[in-house]
Amino acid sequence: MANQGENLSIDSLSSHEFTESNTTGLKAAYIYSPDYLNLTDQFIKVPYRASLVHTLLEAYKLLDKMDVIAPKAASDEELSCFHTKDYIDIVKKLSADGDLEKCAETADEYGLCYDCPAYEGVYEYAAMVAGASQLGAKLLNEKKYQVVMNWFGGWHHAKKDEAAGYCYFNDIVLGILELREKHDRVLYIDLDLHHGDGIYKSVEDAFCGTSKVMTISLHKFSPGFFPGTGSLTDVGFGKGRFYSLNVPLLDGIDDEQYFQIFKRLICKVIEQFNPGAVVCQCGADGVAGDPMASFNLTPIGLGRCVKYLLQKRLPLLLLGGGGYNLPNTARTWTYLTSLILDVDLDSEIPEHRYFTEYGPDYSLPVEKGYRTDRNSEEYIAKLMTKLLDYLDEVR
Ligand SMILES: [Zn+2]
Repeated sequence: MANQGENLSIDSLSSHEFTESNTTGLKAAYIYSPDYLNLTDQFIKVPYRASLVHTLLEAYKLLDKMDVIAPKAASDEELSCFHTKDYIDIVKKLSADGDLEKCAETADEYGLCYDCPAYEGVYEYAAMVAGASQLGAKLLNEKKYQVVMNWFGGWHHAKKDEAAGYCYFNDIVLGILELREKHDRVLYIDLDLHHGDGIYKSVEDAFCGTSKVMTISLHKFSPGFFPGTGSLTDVGFGKGRFYSLNVPLLDGIDDEQYFQIFKRLICKVIEQFNPGAVVCQCGADGVAGDPMASFNLTPIGLGRCVKYLLQKRLPLLLLGGGGYNLPNTARTWTYLTSLILDVDLDSEIPEHRYFTEYGPDYSLPVEKGYRTDRNSEEYIAKLMTKLLDYLDEVR
């Protein structure tokens, strides 16, 4: 059970509870183990992305500046905090079964096809991701760290009984539920290009239309674009009405515009909602050069959002998510890690195992592309007026 009324922030903790491991004074952990890396690398939708991310962190010597903590796979009991038993059982069965064609029909029923193939070992992979985000939340609850990163997590489309959009188990919902054990109110922010529909839906499934979890998703919203949900008027219902906000954006949005929207909204969200902890999904599929070819962000823009959150000094769980230009995704999450650790990185990618992936420029920054910005000032102004009005209803 959550401790009702407890609203713990880092500010309320005495400073000696944290060892200063970097100049910002933030004690940070990164969830990793060779096993976790191997399982994630085998996920065919983002092959070897985990290795790219991890080896770049290593090449920049960032692993020495934070604690590296090995995750354990979530047990069926832990997974069932959100997922149905039938769904967990079918993922497990298909994962163990060599003859996947035989169970094709059952697999379809649970979304285990197309974007979410039921390959051998998928259960081990997805349960490990879930366990990693749960561990991140536990470490924050135990006040061992102020920031925990699980760059291989952030799979925001999974439903309680259905896989969707490359996501099997919803590690984010499981992490939020864990944080709720200690924090009365948890804020979830979704920076992925896609709407965090699994989380939006979970407000109904896991949080029972509660006003204790607030979700805000900035995403592309356009006819035919996956998953098709997340319009401005989707604001939750019942007790949770106005506690799920959606920021539908159009193609071409750049760092400056994105950060201004983020800052204005999150400033008011934190003021009104007063969360005890924050979970932020940092999907990198809105970064220029992604095959999704939609937004025009760079790691700097996402970094400004993360820096803004760091200033709030609330326990923070940072997750990965989308990101299909694999080197750019590694660049983005490495840069975000450097901000947390307050380390300046050389713009030249250091020599390492995957160095050749970073050609032709072999540099860390990602340049903004030449994409037309479809978000007019009028459009953004209308959006903001509505969203800030909604936020007046949050108490
Ligand atoms: Zn995405």
